[in-house]
Amino acid sequence: EIDITLKCIVVGNGEVGKTSLITRFVKGDFTDEYKKTIGTDFLETEFFCESADENVTLHLWDTAGQEVFSTMTRGYYRGSAICVLAFSTVDRASFEAVKKWMGRVEEECGPIPMILMQNKIDLLSDSSEVSLKDGDRLAEELDLPIVRTCVKDERGVRELFDTLVGTYFEL
Ligand code: GDP
Repeated sequence: EIDITLKCIVVGNGEVGKTSLITRFVKGDFTDEYKKTIGTDFLETEFFCESADENVTLHLWDTAGQEVFSTMTRGYYRGSAICVLAFSTVDRASFEAVKKWMGRVEEECGPIPMILMQNKIDLLSDSSEVSLKDGDRLAEELDLPIVRTCVKDERGVRELFDTLVGTYFEL
């Protein structure tokens, strides 16, 4: 049995829920505190991807507060196999920034599998800064899958990683 390890980066503006996603997924808990740093470069977790019927080890890399993308180091991107592009339903600027983040990832990593994560879906309303339609349009424009998540109650989190890792194995 071959053990496959995939480096997964999670990029997007600050406060969209990247650290929460990673800690929730890896440790199964959700911290309400803003975490500037997770102490290490990445968190590791075993993951069984149902759609690909494959077991993988994921190395999840948080930006740890370095969200100004011009300051992100090359080492952060180096060797990435897959990428989560995260934005928040209640933060228009984070939505507008997705294309920039995607461009940066492509610059550093080439055309690796990526997925759009529309987080804080629990806060969706008629007046929220980003609608479901906005998300759908962006997904269509960028030709990427989109998964809606509420990291707070873990909604969508497994689906997000299952779809993303599945895309990797489709290549
Ligand atoms: P990061 O800067 O992108 O790593 O974002 P964090 O993970 O630190 O989260 C920023 C804030 O959003 C924290 O206060 C989290 O508790 C909160 N948050 C994260 N995900 C959700 C979610 O799905 N719903 C709600 N309501 N709050 C969330």
